[in-house]
Amino acid sequence: MMDEKKRMDEFMTQCRERHVRVTPQRVEIFRQLSRCAEHPAAETLYERVRETMPAISLDTVYRTLSLLEAKHLVCTVGTVDGRTRYDATTALHYHFICDRCRSVSDIFRGEDDTFDPSIVAAGMGDVDAVNIQLRGTCRNCLDRASA
Ligand SMILES: [Zn+2]
Ligand SMILES: [Zn+2]
Repeated sequence: MMDEKKRMDEFMTQCRERHVRVTPQRVEIFRQLSRCAEHPAAETLYERVRETMPAISLDTVYRTLSLLEAKHLVCTVGTVDGRTRYDATTALHYHFICDRCRSVSDIFRGEDDTFDPSIVAAGMGDVDAVNIQLRGTCRNCLDRASA
């Protein structure tokens, strides 16, 4: 995992490259998102951001996330229980989603994994996002069920 300073520097560089104005709200929303391993929904992230920016509105969080997603600065894991879940890691990786507790865990690719679905799909058109999910029951829920 990249350290936070490096990650934030990279975020600001990418904002400039993609003509996204860097504001304190946007920086804080991205920082809090990149700190969460849980792939939060906007509402969950809003609660986090409010701890450091009490005046921020939920609407600002929604709008910022859509903007950052449109500029490929964050991505979504898709919808879990009707809520879009966000991810600050835009490098290709997959997700394991638990159908019981709705937790979302990262699956990072091995060094020797050269399979890139967007290259395979390139002949079909332009790929803007890749979202590969594995669904099942997580270890915690399995342990709870057998206890
Ligand atoms: Zn679970
Ligand atoms: Zn992820």
